[in-house]
Amino acid sequence: MNKFGKILIVIALIAAVVVVIIIKQNNKANSGAVVDEGSINSVVGPEVEGPETAKIDASKGLPRLVDLGADKCIPCKMMAPILEELKSEYEGTFKVEFIDVWKNPDEAPKYGIKLIPTQIFFDASGKELFRHEGFYSKEDILSKWKEFGVDLSVSQPSFERFKPAQLDDRGKDNICYMCDGDIEHKTLVTVSTEKGPVRLCSPHCYFIMYSCLTEDKIDFEKKVSVTDWATGEPVAASEAMYLYSLDGRTGRPIIKAFTDRIRPDQATSGGIVINWQALQDKELVNCCGFCDRACYPQDAAKVIAGGIHTFGCCSHCALGVAARSGLDIEVHERDRLTGEPIVVKTLEGKVASLEPATAVAWFGQRQKPDGTWGSAGCFHQGFFVTLENLKEWIDRNPHETGKMITIHQALANKMKLSPEQIQKACKIGECVPK
Ligand SMILES: [Zn+2]
Ligand SMILES: [Zn+2]
Repeated sequence: MNKFGKILIVIALIAAVVVVIIIKQNNKANSGAVVDEGSINSVVGPEVEGPETAKIDASKGLPRLVDLGADKCIPCKMMAPILEELKSEYEGTFKVEFIDVWKNPDEAPKYGIKLIPTQIFFDASGKELFRHEGFYSKEDILSKWKEFGVDLSVSQPSFERFKPAQLDDRGKDNICYMCDGDIEHKTLVTVSTEKGPVRLCSPHCYFIMYSCLTEDKIDFEKKVSVTDWATGEPVAASEAMYLYSLDGRTGRPIIKAFTDRIRPDQATSGGIVINWQALQDKELVNCCGFCDRACYPQDAAKVIAGGIHTFGCCSHCALGVAARSGLDIEVHERDRLTGEPIVVKTLEGKVASLEPATAVAWFGQRQKPDGTWGSAGCFHQGFFVTLENLKEWIDRNPHETGKMITIHQALANKMKLSPEQIQKACKIGECVPK
């Protein structure tokens, strides 16, 4: 066998997502390809006449994915959590192996690789099926296995419920148009529309709706009435005063409307008294980086995109920031049941890492009048650290319908949207009042 000596390592720009290694042949005795030393920036390597796959572990009876990389190369590092996920989720379906070619310099020539990371797919007999150079997403890897006829179904956790466990027997007037929560009379906001009054549980739900209206918003407040906290009577939104304070436990604003500006007792509540316009300014400070809806940071997923911090009004919207911005993003979301952290990092529109690897998404869906199923809206989506947590949450929310999807699928659903679809995303008018 050839002895390969010195290995020169060139880390390409991260954008290229590959690391080029030039394997310089340094032996004196053997014949073989001589690599052009000068072409350090080009992708070159030993001229291997096809990899020596027959010699590489042909024994175990399972297809095998070998990732050749190094622990210090950035795209290789991004492969690591994917390999871990594949290893745990597809145990018994295919094997996953990682080889660090910087620590084990003999391995690279054995596989005839030119770049790291390189992923090589072997069938159960050890025959090479396919190889890919650079970062390779989980879904691409899985679809490649499918292409080669590997049955992945046994390993895929799944869960769905398209029939609510309990029918929603609340009266229509008691359900918030925006969040489907119960309407508390003291914070009721009503918007008059051509189709009749739209009832919202709170000023916040009103501003969520307002922030995603596509119609002309001039003088819109004339259509809006709020409820006097003291008397329970409706009052024109722009004529009321608002006592604005923060909930000591959750940090979310508490907003109470009053007709009489003497009423708000600042001395005991500690809030400030503001008018409708000032309330609107406050409510619209933070919005979803995907659909522009107003949101409270306490309720939203945090998204970092191109060094800018923004929000996802729901977990799926958070992923949508990658589609809208075209940037690689980092999403910090919490399990809807337990609040445990879930972190997703994307690279070129694919999931590059997921923590914990067991995390799944719930795609809340609702049947439309024509019988087809569509998204149930932002309030009915979520991430969970495990499928068990998701099931527990579903048990506690008997009205929810939809299905479990992987977080990779949730991102793919957003990435396939056209710019026009993204612009329309979650806008009122897209989903008509019930
Ligand atoms: Zn609401
Ligand atoms: Zn959103």
